[in-house]
This record gives sequence, structure tokens and C-alpha cells, in this order.
Amino acid sequence: MLLRTLKIAGIVVLALITTIIIITLVKSPKSLNTQPAILVDGKEYLAIQTSALEHLAQSTTIPVIGYDDANNDSINHQTILNFHQWVKSTYPLIAKNAKWEIINQHSLLITLKGQSNKAAAMFLGHFDVVPTPDSANWKYKPFKGTIDRDTLWGRGALDDKNVIVALLEAAEYSLSKGLRFNRTLIFAFGHDEETGGKNGAAAIAHHLIKHKIPVSFIADEGFGVMKGIVPGLKNNCAIIGLSEKGNVSIKLTVNQLGGHSAWPNPENATSILSRGLNNLENYQFPAHLDGPVRGLFTEAAPYMNWGYRALFSNLWITAPLVKTVLLGGEKTAATIRTTHVTTIIKSGTKENVVPPLAEAIVNLRLFPGDKISYVQNEINRVIDDPRIKATVYLDGQEATPISPDQGDGYDQIRDCIHAQFPETVVVPGLVITGTDCKNYTAVTNRMYRFVPFEFSNSNLSGIHGKNEYITRAQFNRGVLFYIDLFQRL
Ligand SMILES: [Zn+2]
Repeated sequence: MLLRTLKIAGIVVLALITTIIIITLVKSPKSLNTQPAILVDGKEYLAIQTSALEHLAQSTTIPVIGYDDANNDSINHQTILNFHQWVKSTYPLIAKNAKWEIINQHSLLITLKGQSNKAAAMFLGHFDVVPTPDSANWKYKPFKGTIDRDTLWGRGALDDKNVIVALLEAAEYSLSKGLRFNRTLIFAFGHDEETGGKNGAAAIAHHLIKHKIPVSFIADEGFGVMKGIVPGLKNNCAIIGLSEKGNVSIKLTVNQLGGHSAWPNPENATSILSRGLNNLENYQFPAHLDGPVRGLFTEAAPYMNWGYRALFSNLWITAPLVKTVLLGGEKTAATIRTTHVTTIIKSGTKENVVPPLAEAIVNLRLFPGDKISYVQNEINRVIDDPRIKATVYLDGQEATPISPDQGDGYDQIRDCIHAQFPETVVVPGLVITGTDCKNYTAVTNRMYRFVPFEFSNSNLSGIHGKNEYITRAQFNRGVLFYIDLFQRL
């Protein structure tokens, strides 16, 4: 009997191994250079185009800085008007040919009418930047627009003036060469993305819906072209973000009798809160290998080295192991589950008084499908103490719906990446930070987060950090990408 069971088990294992080998071999890589660049000769463009980086440098000297407590009244109107004016005078053909609209006093909506009556392709950018509290330690002053040996140093060089200026350069160049736009192009440049986009992007979305302007897809900031971001993949990788995680903070409050610190109760507000926080600290939300993340690994698997290819081609059986690998690093872990972390703790006002009130804020980034109501219930369950009240702090933001990984928008962006960034693997993915896209969910269900710049890790540390920079080669390639993309639409 035992022998028979062992025999059957042996056959099953052998069959599984054979299936894994077959699936792994079948998923061999396709060629990555199937798309020729269209209409625009890259070499010619790079030779003649010497002013693009200088324009980007000028734009970084007009700082629209986003502070958390900013609103439409406290914001620096004059700087924003200067930026609008700079765009108009630097790009005269766009100024002449496009429809210009200022939304909610500050954001910019530029429409270049296409020849067909297809729904528009919309490109987002934001011209506000985060503050530079450490500007004294920068290699070059963050708002001087210094170009040193073909590298521009300045706040906004990568987030997100590079996108705005690259789009404008591409459109101006196309107009100057008589290249036609088949599709209407809409550029929507927000002024408050770094503080949530409520006055900029949300107002633009409202305007588009009110005026029934059809938009087929939206392209916004997101991942660039990078090496080493997907385990086991040697090629450059371009991730097109199909969704972004939600963001909510939960406030925990404990009210108890305070009193003299000389005769404390065994339990008080801070001890109750600490125990609750400790429970949360020891808990993790479930990891998921589905949606855009599953798509990422299935699409990238054929290009991985053999071991990883076997692992990622066979998620039907290797998912638990893959999850363990991904949970090993904080960035990869954040792509497969809802994360939570305590960001504020407040209690006590005097050293000899037991505080009657203790509060904490826990910030959560929501994996698509994990709703705010679910995480709130889960926090209550894990804390397991009715004396700790958990309420949603400010407004939460659910994860955005997942855009289709094929069809209008996705297909042209993918093909253009293959044309402009040879040997690059293009995959769908999930963006773990926020973008302006979250304000446009009512405009279209096709939103693609990708920027056409080849980043290194040292580039990335400048985003929201110090010494933000971009090289001329990196920037010009992005301009070329958009010239090519506009012709594919
Ligand atoms: Zn940004």
C-alpha cells in the first residue's frame, strides 16, 4: 500500500517537474526590436536639437513650491503666472496653434486639435515641485538651472518639469517640421500635484467632464526605463503603471482617566495605545500576486535567466515561494501588499501628569482591491481593544481601478518604447506612490503611468531628495520619444 502511494506521489512530482520545464521552455523570449522609429530620424534630431535642455533649465528657475498647508490663496500666484508666460513665449508655434485655458486660476490646459475626430490622447504633467530644505548641501543651487558638462542640476529636473518640457519640445518640433497630429493632443499641467492635485488635476477633470470632451487615454508620470528593478532580468525594463495604490491614514484615539503620576493606574491611555500599536507592528496585510503585478512577472519571465524564468513562468505552483522572495525587500514587498506604518504619536503635556488622551496616526498604502472600509475593520480586529477608537483621518483615497494592459494608449506607448529604447522589456505594473491620475478616474479607464527617460539609481535618489539632475542624452531621448509617439496616435 505504502509502496503504491509512494509510486503515485513519484509520478505526480515527475509530471509537475515536466510541466514546469515545458512551460519554462515554451516561454522563450520574443525579439525586442520589432518596432522601427517612425518619421523622425533620431540622429538628425539629436544633431540639430541643442536647446531642449536649456529650456528645461530655464523652467527649473521658476519654482512653484508645494507646501502641505498650501491652498489657492496662499500659493504664489506671480510665480505661476511667470511659468505660464514662460511656456507661451518659449513655444510660439504651440501658442499660435493650440487652445489655451487656465483652469482654477493656476493649472494649464493646452489642446492641439488633431485631424481625425478620435477621442483625445491626454498627457499630464505638474509644474509644482517639493521644497528643498537641504538646498545648502546641494552640489548646485536647486533653482539656478545650472548646466554643467551636459547635465542639468535643479529641482524639477526629474519630477516633473522634464515631462512638461519634453512634451512641449516635441509638439513645437513637430509643428516646425509640418508633422501632422492625427489625434487631438491635450496637455494638462497641474500646479498642485505634490499636495494632492485637488485644485489642479481635479478641477481639470471636472472641466473635461462638464464640457463633454472625449479622452481616450491618459499618460502620466510613473516608472522610467531602468535596469535591475525586476529580479532575474538583465535587460532594461520599462514598467507601464496600470494602477496606483490608495492612501489612507487611520487615527487611533484612547481616552482614559488621567491623574497624578505618583499613584498611576495599571493601565492608562498611553499603555493601551502602545499595546494596540504593538499588535499592529506584528501584523502584515496579506500579500497578493494578482492584477498588474502578476502581469509584470508573466510578461518579464521569458527574458529572465533560466532559474528565475522557471520560478516566474510557473506562478500557478511557485506563487508562495515568489511571495517570500518579494516580501524580502521593502520596495518589492510594497508592490504586493497593503503597507502600514505609524507616522505620528501624540500624548502627554506634563512630566508628572498621567495623560488622559493618547493618539496615533497610522498611514496605509492600499493594494488594489483592499478598500478603506476593509483596512479599517482589519485594524480594529488586530488591535482587538474597543477602548482604542479607529477613525479615518482626513480624506482617504482608494487605489485606482486597473487600466487594460492592451488597446488604445497602452499599445502605442509599448511600441514606441520598443522603437526608442532598443532591448527594453515592456511590462505592466503597479505604481506605489501617488500621481495626478487618481483625480481623473471619471474621465477615462485607460491611464498609463510611464516616463520616457532612462534612469539610473543615482538619478532616482534626487527625486524629492537632493541633487536632482538629468543629462542631455537622457532628456533628448525623452523628447524624441514623444515626437515619435504623437505620430503613432
Ligand atoms: Zn511628480
